[in-house]
Amino acid sequence: MRRENRQRIARVALDVPLDSLFDFVANDIDEADIGRLVRVPFGKRTTMGVVVEVADHSDVDTAKLRAVEEVLRTVEPIARNDLAVARFCAEYYHHPLGQTLLGSLPPALRTARAAQILRSMEARYFAVTAEGAQVDLDRLPAKSVAQRGLLSALKAGPRAENELAAALPRFRPALRALLDKGWIATAQKPAETAQAPADPSPSSFELNEEQNAASAQILEALGRYQAFLLHGITGSGKTEVYLQSIAAALAARRQALVLVPEINLTPQLEQRFRARFPSASIVMLHSHMGERERLQAWLATQAGRVQIVLGTRLAVFAPLPSLGLVIVDEEHDPSFKQQEGLRYSARDVAVYRARQRGCPIVLGSATPSLESWSNAASSFDGSGSLKGAAETKAAQSRYRLLSLTHRAVPTSTLPAVYLLDLNREAAREGVAEGLLRQIEQRLKRGEQSLVFVNRRGYAPALVCQQCAWVPECSQCAARMVFHRADRRLVCHHCGHTSRVPARCGECGSADLAPLGEGTQRVEAALAAQFPDARIVRIDRDATRAKGSAQRLFDAAGRGEVDILVGTQMLAKGHDFPNLTLVGILNADASMFSADFRAPERLFAQLVQVAGRAGRAGLPGEVWIQTRFPNHPLYAAVQQQDFAAFADMQLAERNMLLMPPASHLVLLRVEGRKPGDALRFARGAVDLTRGHARDVTVFDAVPAALERKAGWERVQVMAQSRSRKALQNFIGEWRKAIAGAAPRAIRWTLDVDPLEV
Ligand code: ADP
Ligand code: ZN
Ligand code: ZN
Repeated sequence: MRRENRQRIARVALDVPLDSLFDFVANDIDEADIGRLVRVPFGKRTTMGVVVEVADHSDVDTAKLRAVEEVLRTVEPIARNDLAVARFCAEYYHHPLGQTLLGSLPPALRTARAAQILRSMEARYFAVTAEGAQVDLDRLPAKSVAQRGLLSALKAGPRAENELAAALPRFRPALRALLDKGWIATAQKPAETAQAPADPSPSSFELNEEQNAASAQILEALGRYQAFLLHGITGSGKTEVYLQSIAAALAARRQALVLVPEINLTPQLEQRFRARFPSASIVMLHSHMGERERLQAWLATQAGRVQIVLGTRLAVFAPLPSLGLVIVDEEHDPSFKQQEGLRYSARDVAVYRARQRGCPIVLGSATPSLESWSNAASSFDGSGSLKGAAETKAAQSRYRLLSLTHRAVPTSTLPAVYLLDLNREAAREGVAEGLLRQIEQRLKRGEQSLVFVNRRGYAPALVCQQCAWVPECSQCAARMVFHRADRRLVCHHCGHTSRVPARCGECGSADLAPLGEGTQRVEAALAAQFPDARIVRIDRDATRAKGSAQRLFDAAGRGEVDILVGTQMLAKGHDFPNLTLVGILNADASMFSADFRAPERLFAQLVQVAGRAGRAGLPGEVWIQTRFPNHPLYAAVQQQDFAAFADMQLAERNMLLMPPASHLVLLRVEGRKPGDALRFARGAVDLTRGHARDVTVFDAVPAALERKAGWERVQVMAQSRSRKALQNFIGEWRKAIAGAAPRAIRWTLDVDPLEV
């Protein structure tokens, strides 16, 4: 430690898999530069980093320290609040801070070329000319939508080119056309002024009583932290409640952050927001944007020029200086969980942010996650069924429940749900006769049918085709998972293994088969049955080409398809006005999946798919094929009774000590050589002996997807009722594993894993 020449040291977070910060000499920086991006030498290359601390000494010999190459002063520093979010994530998910922090930035800022990109993006500004100011927007041809949008935007004042490009569709041709007409010209950068609150367009209808009650509670909470769970059946008008709340937040000159699942971030949703807030600045943030476009949206948001950020999970890290409201739509959706790198849950991080910034957050869903449901008020009071989660339910973390119990459009009704008992009914290639008859009726009436083939729970159970018996683990009574490759049964809970039985343990039949049907087989069966019907299959194989899924959906929307066959891709976000029948195959597989959340996902999916039918006046019907017609899950689906389903599941979770009755961490191990992963994972279990206080560590078991791209995959689950105990345990375990892991092994720790 030499201090004589009072060098300034920047402690920099870098995008490398190490927990430490790195010291660099940087004499021209001070405390105000914390959060700034810097370009630094690292090994033989240069890379971007973020200044996290500034000091005047280093534990490293300063003679050996290298210097910061460039401080990016054209970008504002990352706000302290946002640094705190990164720090929280790094600690909670046990991921290196540098990777967490850099990973939350737009990719353009992470490259050593960041400064160049920023320079090349320095904005040109445009404004209307005197002539343009005279032009009456209504006299522009109706089809010149883009020109009209651009002119209208500029009439409100000069704007930067890149922001216009991000905000307006078909911006380039419109810009050229208006420049040619002499209606607009380049202009000086205007002085920064605070945005005027954007006046929303009036909604075309009155909110109903429930919607009003929900919005009133949210409005009342503006300005302080409060989490709401907005539970509303499909079509109950949740989006209207969001829009109403956002309008109030904007009126208070606050920014709104709206997170939606990947599949829901459609142009229609964006349109709905733009139509409602025509003069607000709205940006999208998602991973399919171009590098510059995403950077532009991020910079405008950071500068406070954006009022609404609409995005997928990564948008939860958007820099929002005056955040006033957070909305997470379809909060139960698995796509909010990142499945690589920093394995964060955007929903959970969103709750952290709302609390940190003292603003309300609305989690909306027709089928809330059981975690959120159990956090919501009153659903557990008195029942005592979730004592283990009590610590997470401190008074201030309680969510307030808002309910929308009927459809907003008075003429629209929920579809009727029927069961087809496969124990009584003949089936052709997995499609029950009863369902074929229903499809036939729709064909005669010129209506559309959708056949949904559930693919979840690809670790299947064996089931007796005669009596529906399913083998269970002799050690722990969980269902055994069928492993096709070596024809074994494995308990994914405790690791117990057995051979496939020759006969049913109940009725002695030799007819045991794995649950599950493929989409192609179903498509072929339907084609054979209905040779004249126009059938379209929508699954990952059939829609590999970019845009092909959209083309198929569009064709179906135009009524050019009679029968749609497909997987979860069919479940959401698309309206087929002529669809009156939904058939559901292979739902049973989810009830016997090794993943304890499979029934929860199945329920959500069934409710979603059912919501596809009967949207436009025509009554819809849902027919579910099952070998277990008396299963209470189906009764709950038939009643569309989420609360009943949730209570049933929570009782089970409580019994098995699964979330939300406990907290989990999953060690995921991958190895190339057979046996490597398992051996290492077993070693990792041994490392915990004597350390796992208040934590239960299970044996190493094969992952649901046992092999992937040539890697053998094994996992170890650890569980605790106490989040704190689990967190302490993970910290120590991680260090021990890191010390023991050979190069040939890949491993990660997944905190609050969603797929187990
Ligand atoms: P959700 O988000 O709950 O699925 P939406 O907000 O999309 O529901 O609303 C479903 C439909 O009902 C939409 O077409 C919407 O325009 C309409 N809607 C919403 N609220 C009302 C209302 N108060 N009166 C009439 N129609 C409404
Ligand atoms: Zn077992
Ligand atoms: Zn049997």
